[in-house]
Amino acid sequence: MDRNEILRGIPKVDEVVRAARQILDGLRTDVLAGKINEIPHFEEIVESVVGGQNQSPLHRVINATGIVLHTNLGRAPLAPVAVERVRVAAGGYSALEYDLATGRRGSRMKAVEQQLTELCQTQAALCVNNNAAAVLLTLTALCSGGRVVVSRGELVEIGGSFRIPDVISAGGAILAEVGTTNKVRLADYDGACSMATAALLKVHTSNYRIVGYTQEVGLEELASLAAARDIPLIYDLGGGSLVKLSPHEPTVQEAAQHADIVCFSGDKLLGGPQAGIIVGKAEYIDQIRKHPLYRALRMDKLSLAALEATLKLYIDGAAADVPTISMLTISSEELHAKATTFLTKIKPQNGLFSTEIAETSGQAGGGSLPGEEFPSWAVAITTTVMPLHTLEEALRKHEVPIIGRIHKDKLLLDVRTIDITDFPIIARTLDEIFRGGATNE
Ligand SMILES: *Cc1c(COP(=O)(O)O)cnc(C)c1O
Repeated sequence: MDRNEILRGIPKVDEVVRAARQILDGLRTDVLAGKINEIPHFEEIVESVVGGQNQSPLHRVINATGIVLHTNLGRAPLAPVAVERVRVAAGGYSALEYDLATGRRGSRMKAVEQQLTELCQTQAALCVNNNAAAVLLTLTALCSGGRVVVSRGELVEIGGSFRIPDVISAGGAILAEVGTTNKVRLADYDGACSMATAALLKVHTSNYRIVGYTQEVGLEELASLAAARDIPLIYDLGGGSLVKLSPHEPTVQEAAQHADIVCFSGDKLLGGPQAGIIVGKAEYIDQIRKHPLYRALRMDKLSLAALEATLKLYIDGAAADVPTISMLTISSEELHAKATTFLTKIKPQNGLFSTEIAETSGQAGGGSLPGEEFPSWAVAITTTVMPLHTLEEALRKHEVPIIGRIHKDKLLLDVRTIDITDFPIIARTLDEIFRGGATNE
């Protein structure tokens, strides 16, 4: 870029004033609404004026944390074919609810439901906006007015306001807790089953694990009890996977072999868009589909396009093309090789910082595979010219933010979640930061 072109990029004074006025008006509104009790420091206000301009929350960031399903960074990135399907569906008309064979109205969900029944080996399937909606809808449609039996060890809270006891009551059902935090037996479930019991509910403890003196009831036993009582066994599987990722966790297919209804997320281990998927017996799915809440919680066409493309990869035996799956299953040797390549791209400036390869350990994240260790490799950066937290902040606040983490006096950039096409931009960013902001282009 020549200098004149760069100069033209400087914003006009009134644009800056307008941005400042917006921030100050916002502060005034927040004080009057009782949202804040204290005005931030002057520097912070200036920073939000400067930084707030191009920082949409959907701004692209580089995830160098190694956490594949990072809830704060948007969970699962889509496969390129899914992104392409979204682009086509978004930019034009589609046969979303039109049957091209007959010229009549069609179902927007049919294709995806067929893919799901094939993949999960179930009689029927249904999709809604997210898994919280899937669980709420299932409980409302099948259990309203009845009792729902759950183990005390599974009364989960998944970030925000999703708490199993609250979801059960929001669905108009009554929670019947059984067992203790660490132990539950079949007799506990059996004893809680009465005339008014509408379902047995099993909840995947997605973000914690109870270890030590513990006991739980196997899915098969629960299924037999539910069948004997003629009530459904509902399984909120959280981040259900269609491929075996862990010896300790059931896949969706395994869960659906025993449970009558299985609910799971589209954007956790499946690696698709935000969605809530319900699979299982047709008699229950039909009942759920008829509930008025179903229409209110339906998926939009863009997510539907992404889900269909993602499921097609599984059907075609190309699960490795789903980024979430490839990032979770990449071998340690491949990660080491990736880190070595990354290291050669980063050339420390006259000893201002130094780099090395370091072994790290991470988690799948996003409320998936709790306690499962994912050993990985990172490029570790050390420097004496600035505190590490300053470097971490500079990377985080850069034009394309790079999110790393500090561990034992090193800044770690874990290569598991970094796309190799992003290596040059990270190298350039480090260069700029250590040269005090001057670009090398
Ligand atoms: C993540 C999770 C949910 C919520 O799923 P979303 O798709 O985020 O709405 C519900 N139940 C369990 C057990 C979960 O792990």
